[in-house]
Amino acid sequence: MTRIVNVGGIEIGGGNPVRIQSMNNTRTQDIDGTLAQIQRLSDAGCDITRVTIPDMEAAEALKEISKKSPIPVVADIHFDYRLAIAAAKNGAAKIRINPGNIGGPDKLKQVADICKERGLPIRVGVNSGSIDRKLVDEFGGVCAENMTKSALDAVRLLEDTDFDNIVISIKSSSPKLTIETYRLMSKACDYPLHVGVTEAGTLREGTVKSAVGIGTLLAEGIGDTIRVSLTGDPVDEVYAAKSILKALDLKTGGITFVSCPTCGRTQVPLIDIANEIESRVSNLPYDLKVAIMGCAVNGPGEARDSDIGIAGGKDEFLLFEHGQIVRKLKSDSAVDEFVAEVIRLGEEKSSLKRS
Ligand code: SF4
Repeated sequence: MTRIVNVGGIEIGGGNPVRIQSMNNTRTQDIDGTLAQIQRLSDAGCDITRVTIPDMEAAEALKEISKKSPIPVVADIHFDYRLAIAAAKNGAAKIRINPGNIGGPDKLKQVADICKERGLPIRVGVNSGSIDRKLVDEFGGVCAENMTKSALDAVRLLEDTDFDNIVISIKSSSPKLTIETYRLMSKACDYPLHVGVTEAGTLREGTVKSAVGIGTLLAEGIGDTIRVSLTGDPVDEVYAAKSILKALDLKTGGITFVSCPTCGRTQVPLIDIANEIESRVSNLPYDLKVAIMGCAVNGPGEARDSDIGIAGGKDEFLLFEHGQIVRKLKSDSAVDEFVAEVIRLGEEKSSLKRS
C-alpha cells in the first residue's frame, strides 16, 4: 500500500480511488482562458490539473487561477527554483519538478522548505529523456532499471532536504518500458505513483498506448493517479482516463456507454447516432449503462446487462430497458427521445437511491 499524499484536499495513494489528472494547454498567463479550460476539465471528471510555469508572469497568474479553480492546480516547473517558490506561494496545490535539474541542493532545499511549510507535495517527475547520461551509458541505453534508479536518485535528493511528501512519475513514450519501470518502482518504495505514458500521440494512437500502459499497471494494482497524454484537447485525456478506469471497474458511477460494432444487419446510420448520443449523455450525472445497438434481432439480447438502450430496425428503433423491449422510436426523433428517456430513468434511479 502506498502512502497518502494530499493535493489541495484530494488524497492520492493509500487505497484512495485512482485520481484523474490532466494538464492545461492554454498559456498560463491567459487567466480567463486557463480557467475556462479548467472548468471544462472539471466538468468532464478531472480531479487535478496542472499548468506550466515558464516565467514569473505565469507564476503571478497562478494566484488568481488557483483561487478560482474548481479543482487543485499543480505547477509544472523546469530548471528555475525561483519559479517553484513563487508557485508555492501563489496557491499551487503541488509542485512538479525534477530535483536533479532545479539548480543544486541549496536551491532544492529552498523549494522543499516552502512546500513543507505549506503542506504541498512535490511530484518528482523523471522521464526517459531526462535520465542521467552516465546511467544510460552504464546500462547501454534507456531501460527500466536505469529509469527507476534515476527516479530514486532524484527522490533521494529531496529526502536529503528532509522532505518526504512525494509523488513519483517515471514516464516513457513506450508503454512496455513504462510498465516495466513502474513495476520496479512499486517494489522499490511506497510513495504514491503518478502513472502515464508520455508523448503517447494523437487521440487514437495515444489512447491505445495509454490504455495498454496505464491499464496493465492498474490491473496489477500499481498506480495511484493517472494522466493520459494526448496531442489534442485535454478534455479528451479525461474521457480516456475515465474509460480506462471504468474498464477495470476502478471507477463506478456516471454513464457507461456500450455500442455494437455494426454488421450487415444494421439498417440505420448507427455510427453517427451512437456518436451523437454518446456526446449528449456521457456527462450526465447518472449511474447508468447505456447501449446503442444496430439491430433488433440481437441488440437487446447482446446488451442485456444494460439499463437502457436502443436497437435499430428499418426506419425505427426499439427502446429497451434491462433487455426488455418497451416501445418504438421514430428514426428522425430517436436521438432526442432516447436522450430524454435516459434522463428520465437516471432521475428515477437517483430518487430511489435518495428515498
Ligand atoms: Fe450486428 Fe445486430 Fe450485433 Fe449490431 S447488434 S453487431 S447490428 S447483430
